Amino acid sequence: MATGSPTRTTCPYCGVGCGVVATPQQDGTVAIRGDEQHPANFGRLCSKGSALGETLGLDDRLLRPEIGGRRADWNEALELVARRFSETIAAHGPESVAFYGSGQLLTEDYYVANKLMKGFIGAANIDTNSRLCMASSVAGHVRAFGSDTVPGTYEDLEEADLVVLVGSNMTWCHPVLFQRLLAARERRGTTIVVIDPRRTVTAEAADLHLAIAPNSDGALFAGLLDHLDRIGLRDGDYVERHTSGLDAALLAARDCGFPGALQATHLPPEQLREFYTLWSRSERVVTAYSQGVNQSVVGTDKVNAIINCHLFTGRIGRPGMGPFSLTGQPNAMGGREVGGLANMLAAHLDINRPDHRELVRSFWGSPRIATRPGLKAVDLFRAVGEGHVKALWIMGTNPADSMPDADAVQEALRACPFVVVSDVVRTDTTRHAHVVLPAAAWAEKSGTVTNSERRISRQRSFLKPPGEARPDWRIVCDVAARMGFSEAFDYQSPAEIFREHAALSGLANDGTRDFDISACAELSESAYDALAPFQWPRRAGEALDGITTRFFAEGRFYTPDRRGRFVPTQIVLPEVSGDFPLILNTGRIRDQWHTMTRTAKTPRLMSHYAESFCEIHPDDAEDAGIGPAALVRIVSPQGAAVVRALVTERQQKGSIFVPMHWTDQHAAQGRIGSAVLPAADPVSGQPGLKFSHARIEPY
Ligand code: SF4
Repeated sequence: MATGSPTRTTCPYCGVGCGVVATPQQDGTVAIRGDEQHPANFGRLCSKGSALGETLGLDDRLLRPEIGGRRADWNEALELVARRFSETIAAHGPESVAFYGSGQLLTEDYYVANKLMKGFIGAANIDTNSRLCMASSVAGHVRAFGSDTVPGTYEDLEEADLVVLVGSNMTWCHPVLFQRLLAARERRGTTIVVIDPRRTVTAEAADLHLAIAPNSDGALFAGLLDHLDRIGLRDGDYVERHTSGLDAALLAARDCGFPGALQATHLPPEQLREFYTLWSRSERVVTAYSQGVNQSVVGTDKVNAIINCHLFTGRIGRPGMGPFSLTGQPNAMGGREVGGLANMLAAHLDINRPDHRELVRSFWGSPRIATRPGLKAVDLFRAVGEGHVKALWIMGTNPADSMPDADAVQEALRACPFVVVSDVVRTDTTRHAHVVLPAAAWAEKSGTVTNSERRISRQRSFLKPPGEARPDWRIVCDVAARMGFSEAFDYQSPAEIFREHAALSGLANDGTRDFDISACAELSESAYDALAPFQWPRRAGEALDGITTRFFAEGRFYTPDRRGRFVPTQIVLPEVSGDFPLILNTGRIRDQWHTMTRTAKTPRLMSHYAESFCEIHPDDAEDAGIGPAALVRIVSPQGAAVVRALVTERQQKGSIFVPMHWTDQHAAQGRIGSAVLPAADPVSGQPGLKFSHARIEPY
């Protein structure tokens, strides 16, 4: 029998952003079901979402502040954090301190952290694990659209005749959205194409699987642009009226062409031709992409190669068509909206523009504002290791395991004079903290998140924080007050923060900005509490529900001349080196999330894969003297990890795949981040987590 009333909230895992109904039970458990009224999932949940009730135990929870491993009270811990940050800034300048956050934070948490760092400390050294997830999409959007705008909606995947999934194992990584796509295929016969070096479960469900060579998707889409041009599929009116830069992009695409695409992808010619024909003949086409595109040293170019094809054909912003970025994390989008990356400003404003900086500074009433972009994740931890960043606050994430070159990150944390970690549980990162601050977890905190289709949903608490845990926004404000900024951080509720965020978005919108939720600027506490999921933009005076919004069908991009930009893209041919002849690809599996701090709590989710593994083609296994289920060591120029071999033809020759989730806490030497190269895309700063050089040997 239920003892608590049902609470409508949002799943804290992937970017689909499913609505969840949580009902505390008399026996202390919590019943979880999908929210039938939520427009992302209409009641569906995947294995992770439906197991949420099993992950609420307090086993490894941080319950009280700690200083140097001893228990402390909140006041002492907050005073110390504020004092050490203030002293470091006074001695070495604002750029000697940094924050590193998470796509798990709520928008309100992100907003105050970004405000404190950029507006009051006066540097932009605030980056997040979204850099590992979405940064190339952001950069590609900004280059093409002049703004970080996702043009379409989930409905487009259901209304398309052709859905192309690039570098996305959607069945496992965005499961409910994939279920919606399959249901649409049942109804209307959608053709699904998967472009992925691995034969994933998603590829097996597709009508056509293009098992391209790693990192060759940019060439595939450059070749497609050339093909579209050669067969006369340009939407001349759209291109003429709404875009610029086509000639240079076509020239680059012509350099690649069909032969270049063949050479790069290693596909059979007839298969490549079949795909080009399918894409060109399908007016309603959505090209959805995820980490296989983003997590690359040429990720931004890959994003733009895809967008180029949609601009060229005018297939954007109309029902059933457009490029579509599938966000990894639950609130990477909300973080972007408040400027929670080192190269962004709040409300999608441009940190490089003095007028935008002044607008935000005067709105915040802050004494200063960052005058240039800060350090992106890989550079940030490098700067910590080199001693340039002397005080670091990590919020809700575990970079000691999840960053590339993770051993070097651990070294950097060990060497850093002052590390603060606010989190829910103990991790490999908290081991390096001078101060640990206990944060409220998913079930205990309230705020908003934004999913992949720009839909803002409420996350609502239904349990009291245990011990002395506090919401992240409250912790940030408590430190800000002790740094002398009490007036600007005197929030009494997340609703108050959200209203300020909404008001800024309206003020920032002079008619040439995409992000605007000023319709929420006057929400009362009760209206915020009852807020139903809605898609932005929602300008002042507009209704909040029942409207589907798309961008760019009629042009009106957010570049200075309001034209969409074609971008000439660089073609990269896959390469390996002699000592490290394999390409190491990392990614998610179905039932785990990040470094398993939550999903490992339930046997149900652990039973899918009980231990980490390395998918390897039988020929490569034989060459390396490795039998099925043998323990193997994966060695790269960066480091090594030990996992179990999973010999399978799902993996193409020359490449191996290892899940990103396991850490040394779960299995000795099991952390694959040690072996991942820290090379990053020069435009987006996103590391190429899917392309490290490696070799494999028996353990
Ligand atoms: Fe949660 Fe994503 Fe699964 Fe939905 S699809 S229940 S958001 S993990």
